[in-house]
Amino acid sequence: MRAEIDVAGVVAALEAMHGQRHWHWWPDADPFEVIVGSILVQNTAWENVERALANLRGAGALQISVMGALDAEAFEALIRPSGQFRQKAKKLRAFLDLVNEHGGLETLVRLPAPELRAALLATWGIGPETADCILLYAARQPAIIIDAYLRRIFARLCLGPGPAASYTAWQAWLAGELPPGRDALSRFHAEVVQHCKLLCRKRRPLCGECALAATCSWPAADGPESER
Ligand code: SF4
Repeated sequence: MRAEIDVAGVVAALEAMHGQRHWHWWPDADPFEVIVGSILVQNTAWENVERALANLRGAGALQISVMGALDAEAFEALIRPSGQFRQKAKKLRAFLDLVNEHGGLETLVRLPAPELRAALLATWGIGPETADCILLYAARQPAIIIDAYLRRIFARLCLGPGPAASYTAWQAWLAGELPPGRDALSRFHAEVVQHCKLLCRKRRPLCGECALAATCSWPAADGPESER
């Protein structure tokens, strides 16, 4: 029989398993680099983003004024390793326009969270997950990021509003369950990602190494046959 667990128990287990690991956006990464990374990582693996970021860094283009002055061809060539490079160049340019409208990045990220989130969501190419990444890791304001990793863990633990529930429904549920504050929320998201990359993999998760195994539906059922 499975032991019971609540969100606080999941948070504590993730911290115990992954709290000491390196995380590229924690604790205080450069805000502009976080924003560029959060747009480039859409629909690709972080390793590809690192290659694109290295190209941009090498060209001195991880500065707003330099990136804004790149011609289209040069810009696309630099971010090509992240895939969908034409679209992503357009998204980054839309973000640069938003920065210019607000008189600079510092002013933009100091907007109150609801105002900043609304401005980000009104920008082409920025959806709720990217907006919340920017809020949490670039603006350093509290935000709950809902991604496929989070849905996977909680679905396997039979917690939460369900894998098909909306982004807003997941946020509303977790808002009452997670410890508040930017530091706690940024650690939680980082540990969710680490857990899914290292142990709670989509196929063949390493449940024998997981501190949540006694509380999880997956080891007992051995997972759905299609995902073994
Ligand atoms: S026991 Fe396995 S499926 Fe469950 S959370 Fe841990 S790694 Fe994921």
